[in-house]
Amino acid sequence: MDHFDLLVIGSGPAGQKAAIAAAKLGKRAAVIERRDMVGGVCINTGTIPSKTMREAVLYLTGLNQRELYGESYRLKDDITVGDLSSRTQHVIGREIDVVQNQLSRNRVQMIVGSARFTGPHEIDVVTTGGDHKTVTADNFVIAVGTRPARPESVDFDGATIVDSDQILGMDRVPMSMVVVGAGVIGIEYASMFAALGTKVTVVEKRSTMLDFCDREIVEALQYQLRDRGVTFRFGESVKTVEKHPSGTLTILESGKKIPADTVLYSAGRQGVTDELNVSDAGLTADARGRLTVDPHFRTEVSHIYAVGDVIGFPALAATSMEQGRRAAYHAFGEPVGESEGEQPIGIYSIPEVSYVGRTEDELTAADIPFEVGISRYRELARGAIMGDAYGMLKLLIDANTRKILGVHVFGSNACELVHVGQTVMGLGGTVDYLVDAVFNYPTLCEAYKVAALDAENKMRAISRVSTVGNTGELGLENTG
Ligand SMILES: Cc1cc2nc3c(=O)[nH]c(=O)nc-3n(C[C@H](O)[C@H](O)[C@H](O)COP(=O)(O)OP(=O)(O)OC[C@H]3O[C@@H](n4cnc5c(N)ncnc54)[C@H](O)[C@@H]3O)c2cc1C
Repeated sequence: MDHFDLLVIGSGPAGQKAAIAAAKLGKRAAVIERRDMVGGVCINTGTIPSKTMREAVLYLTGLNQRELYGESYRLKDDITVGDLSSRTQHVIGREIDVVQNQLSRNRVQMIVGSARFTGPHEIDVVTTGGDHKTVTADNFVIAVGTRPARPESVDFDGATIVDSDQILGMDRVPMSMVVVGAGVIGIEYASMFAALGTKVTVVEKRSTMLDFCDREIVEALQYQLRDRGVTFRFGESVKTVEKHPSGTLTILESGKKIPADTVLYSAGRQGVTDELNVSDAGLTADARGRLTVDPHFRTEVSHIYAVGDVIGFPALAATSMEQGRRAAYHAFGEPVGESEGEQPIGIYSIPEVSYVGRTEDELTAADIPFEVGISRYRELARGAIMGDAYGMLKLLIDANTRKILGVHVFGSNACELVHVGQTVMGLGGTVDYLVDAVFNYPTLCEAYKVAALDAENKMRAISRVSTVGNTGELGLENTG
């Protein structure tokens, strides 16, 4: 029987980084993964395929060039699923290769099969052929991720009614689509299909979308999507989806009927703990299959850690990787930095959205006075060169300490740009750093300086009024 210092279940971003971190500490580590899922949801069905498809959509539709070359500009007129998937398959193949190479280079053993606990230190692995293998370890990292939640009432067929795992297998680009759920995944796909010319209707039971983001930026995104023909049905729930020979009919509780070629269900995800038999390890998952952890990612059983999507928000590849590393370090007593600092959120809608830190609403609710500095891409030379007239960068500055409390970016390269603000925030910098900094010209990074100057001017205006007011009062008193 094989025994390891650390056994990791799942080879997604969280599991990979946990196993490699343990191996780097000189520990004997292994990863258990199913045959066709090396790299996890991230590489096979989630992040990498969707972001590659987005890149293909932007390239083939020529969408980002239309400001410069006119609304009719296209690189290709009839974009097929084949055009989109060839790029996706190429990138997936390369990424799987990178992961396998990294694991083997670090002497992390890959055990192929499906894992289930048979005791707190023991796992039964069932191979694709049905053989069983028992493996034991001193420590475990559960990194099994999630799968799309599928309501029983909906008849998913993988062709006309699909979830986000199935969407890449569609046989054609639909003329019309209903997207159920205006979360990150739903909005990313809604914007990609809208860019392809699909008539998209988004149905969301809440009255708003992406509630954790800056309201002004969400409004700007909604405006752009509406401009591309997206219809939003907020405050509406789906009663049923009917399948007919000529397409689907999504029937809402309010009685509305929406015809479409395809329905994409993107209404939450479920932790994949059901097949793991966590109860034999002494663990309990919640109703959505998620596990609870302490700040060190330790479950209630001290030698078993859980990381990545299976522990819930923010459920991003970026955070999952860091959680994996931290869990492994903690298991082997290796010190890690006290704080993870502010973590960015990236949404690859078209246009993209990214932020780090707090929103205006959060600061107002906490009675923290702040000033806003805004820069619009259309005022930047790089914005004009790129043909991005709608992008913006917004800084939220503490009115007392002048520290940066939040950075919110909308438009081209938002998910890259945010890291400049994140770094300044992480190092405790103030708006003055950005006011005095020199950035390459012409770049979008210049937006930081413009926004910082905007905030500084507003703060100066406040202090000028306050100073003048005080002098005036003093003057009156003196005269009196
Ligand atoms: C459509 C979509 C787009 C996304 N876009 C982004 C993005 O742009 N940026 C971003 O940061 N994040 C994005 N995400 C989220 C990101 O993919 C996840 O946060 C990330 O994959 C989570 O990593 P993980 O390691 O926790 O789990 P996963 O990547 O889900 O991997 C878990 C692995 O565990 C394996 N496993 C499960 N049970 C067992 C078992 N019993 N035995 C053996 N193996 C098992 C599975 O086969 C799977 O390979 C996206 C997700 C989706 C669905």
